[in-house]
Amino acid sequence: MKINGKTTLHGIMGDPVGHSLSPAMHNAAFTKLGLNSVYVPFPVQDVAAALNGFRALHVRGVSVTIPHKQAVIPLLDEIDPMAARIGAVNTLMIDDKSGIKGFNTDWMGANRALSDCLDMKNKKIVLLGAGGAARAIGFGLLETGTEVVLAGRTKKSGEKLARELECDWHSLSDIPALTADGLINATSAGMAPDIDYSPIPAKALKNFPVIMDIVYAPLETRLLREARAAGCRTINGLAMLLYQGVAQFELWTGRDAPLPIMKQQLEAGLDCR
Ligand code: NAP
Repeated sequence: MKINGKTTLHGIMGDPVGHSLSPAMHNAAFTKLGLNSVYVPFPVQDVAAALNGFRALHVRGVSVTIPHKQAVIPLLDEIDPMAARIGAVNTLMIDDKSGIKGFNTDWMGANRALSDCLDMKNKKIVLLGAGGAARAIGFGLLETGTEVVLAGRTKKSGEKLARELECDWHSLSDIPALTADGLINATSAGMAPDIDYSPIPAKALKNFPVIMDIVYAPLETRLLREARAAGCRTINGLAMLLYQGVAQFELWTGRDAPLPIMKQQLEAGLDCR
């Protein structure tokens, strides 16, 4: 990678950002396509000051991560309608004339990950969780016409999201009585260090031909291990992570993202953890 007077700048803003795999993924993609662009970490506490800095320095594209996905919204010049509906922005496009536009690519990443395994037409999906990821995935599934059934451990937050998604909510203990074309774990259940935990009993897995877990640390969760043993098709957390980054790259560059090299960078980064 050669940096010169024409290099365009991209990065990730969050607090912290030191653990992020996005710099390796996006820089490898820029290099692969021979683009004169770099992607760097921006540890940010003051969101408004950071956005002014991006404008002033002609930064082209920025990923937004925890804890700033909501805080950026009132500071944008424009927001994509899906990001507005979800209420979270994970991608900024910065243009000298039109200013800063916010997008959400998490839902795009989840839909693409699921559609690798499942033709999404007229499907019903049980979605576990009521946090930020479940919210983005839920609104994204509705975009494809998928019937969503929400489930989780906490009634209050679950029913609140279910009202917004206009769908039913069930407690985790109801899951053995449910059937659907697929189930997505969008909770942090099973994430390290609680790797011996699965949010649903193994005997219920046969009710769901496709099981997707968005947890990526570890990549093989207990849920996925048991799902494979039960004969389900499985999708791990790398797929959504990859495809949300692919969507960002394509928004910023207008080019098809070089998928294999981006995947390789994520795999290498996750292996080192
Ligand atoms: P969040 O906003 O903190 O929400 C966490 C959700 O998980 C809440 O609904 C919480 O339920 C539920 N939960 C936590 N532990 C649980 C358990 N033991 N049993 C049942 N439910 C449990 O987090 P988030 O941003 O939505 O992220 C959730 C997970 O997705 C994290 O592991 C994150 O790393 C991962 N993620 C992956 C990707 C990807 O691209 N692969 C993208 C985003 C997030 P309560 O309300 O009951 O506490």
